[in-house]
Amino acid sequence: MKSLSKNFLLIFIVFFALAALFSFIYNPNQKIDVVGINQLITYVNNEEINKIEVEGNTIMVSLKNGEIKKITKENTESFSDIVANYQIDKNKLNNIDIIIKEDPSKSIFLGTILPFLIPFILIAGFIWFMMRQVQGANNRAMSFGQAMAKDVGQQKMKKKITFMDVAGAKEAKEELEEIVEFLKNPKKFISLGAKIPKGVLLMGSPGTGKTLLARAVAGEANVPFFHISGSEFVEMFVGVGASRVRDLFNKAKKNSPCIVFIDEIDAVGRQRGAGLGGSHDEREQTLNQILVEMDGFDNETNIIVMAATNRPDVLDPALLRPGRFDRRVVIDLPDINDREAILKIHARNKPLAEDVSLRNVAERTAGFSGADLENLLNEAAILTARQNKRKIGKEEIYSSIEKVILGPERKSAVISEKEKKITAYHEAGHALVGHMLIHTDPVQKISIISRGRAGGYTLATPKEDKRLYSKSEMLDRLTMIMGGYAAEMIVFGEVTTGPSNDLQKATSLAKAIVTEYGMDEKLGPRTFGQKEEMIFLGKEIHERRDYSERTSQMIDEQITSIIKSAYHQAVEIINKHKNKLEQIVEVLLAKETIEREEFTEIMSEKV
Ligand code: ADP
Ligand code: MG
Ligand code: ZN
Repeated sequence: MKSLSKNFLLIFIVFFALAALFSFIYNPNQKIDVVGINQLITYVNNEEINKIEVEGNTIMVSLKNGEIKKITKENTESFSDIVANYQIDKNKLNNIDIIIKEDPSKSIFLGTILPFLIPFILIAGFIWFMMRQVQGANNRAMSFGQAMAKDVGQQKMKKKITFMDVAGAKEAKEELEEIVEFLKNPKKFISLGAKIPKGVLLMGSPGTGKTLLARAVAGEANVPFFHISGSEFVEMFVGVGASRVRDLFNKAKKNSPCIVFIDEIDAVGRQRGAGLGGSHDEREQTLNQILVEMDGFDNETNIIVMAATNRPDVLDPALLRPGRFDRRVVIDLPDINDREAILKIHARNKPLAEDVSLRNVAERTAGFSGADLENLLNEAAILTARQNKRKIGKEEIYSSIEKVILGPERKSAVISEKEKKITAYHEAGHALVGHMLIHTDPVQKISIISRGRAGGYTLATPKEDKRLYSKSEMLDRLTMIMGGYAAEMIVFGEVTTGPSNDLQKATSLAKAIVTEYGMDEKLGPRTFGQKEEMIFLGKEIHERRDYSERTSQMIDEQITSIIKSAYHQAVEIINKHKNKLEQIVEVLLAKETIEREEFTEIMSEKV
């Protein structure tokens, strides 16, 4: 669209330039007077004329005094006609140079035909141009079905990725080691009558290194790697997805042994029949084509299809049948050792200051994925460069951790003293309550500098990685969340819009306690509501109710009561330690942030 308007502009400019040129050449009459024929006769008779030039139907008369006059005659009338028809003294003409430049065809063409022709030429040119555009689009549409898979394996210039580049994920690597073996040495397995696996499904949260691992397998086995993303299949035209699959596999067969990697397969491989409207026909066709292709491999075809998804729960069961993606490799979020190893890999080309311990960074980054960690080190490097330092220090890395979690600091945001005070009490409330409860994570940092959308923040990170949470931990976390609301209530007597995000968190946590984990005595050990996958107008509609109206009311009551009791507990704690709250607020208002050491100091002081 942009190039179209650009071309238009170009056409206009050219047109104007041409018009300007024409007018410049054919109207050089700046200082030329136009006079009548009778005047010409007078000039001749008075012998004032030096030279007469006749061109087409204009007569240019150069006078002896240097002036130039222009006379226009009729087209049909020649100059000699004029001499004959008017009373011109023929003797006097003898002294005058008369030059006749008869070129009527040229002047007729330029003067009369061209002005008519120009618009036609322009319109014709425009139509031709539009036709070309449309045809271009058509051609592109035709080629949609092909040549989309990128063959990374054959780009030899690119650095090959091996298992060395993937830190952690030990189990996943072991599983995939087998695939590498199949690709390198298929005979060994075939001679024993073993069937070579066709499909491997990599499952894991975003950023855990699924794509990286698939590349590493290709790199280890030294085979071509065809990469396509599920979302690329789903295009405007029905049937394109299926033809792309066909083309992809054709290419792969020519290059076997090789790896076909389908990233984000959930975009096409969702359970069939679950969608309402939209592109779901297209998805079904694409999915069917993938299945057909995979079933069509004979044992000699040494192609391994790898696919990645972070939503294994929504995949069509047909994909998971034996003979298809029957190998499943789960990639977890990295634990503390893996995080340290991943950090080491990404710190290879970054000069770190001596005081940086990657172990400490790993400790502070529970829940980060590999991609998050890479991003973290990158942010730290950028921050260091902007401060014109030579080495990445501890402060840069720590402040980047917060940036990755909460978004960039907004130091420039102008906050009134009053709002600052409210934020300080709010965050102090979270920190105080969090500190006083037994089952909460230690407070790492309190800040009233706004970050991302948060006005201030209190960071509490677990000492070690955690997968299981007890009911008391869940309830204490809820109480800590309510700490901000409680502090505002106690100090100012009313709340602001600030804690609305806290309330959302509190509500979904309480709901999970009741409906997902069966932690509520009254409702007992069961789940309520079934998560369901439905696509309607691009939106996912979750949860089917599998309980009665009466239960639904009870669930609501229990959720409210859990939140309320957490709130009351928070109020109790704050009231009991009001002096500590004031102390924290005082430091916060003076320094804006409190680090863990200082916080523990404040809390251990006896007042
Ligand atoms: P996914 O496909 O699972 O969403 P990617 O494979 O695209 O994740 O990972 C994104 C980036 O994160 C990788 O390019 C890599 O730099 C980094 N990364 C993720 N996991 C690891 C890991 N285990 N070791 C080293 N780097 C990793
Ligand atoms: Mg990926
Ligand atoms: Zn809060």
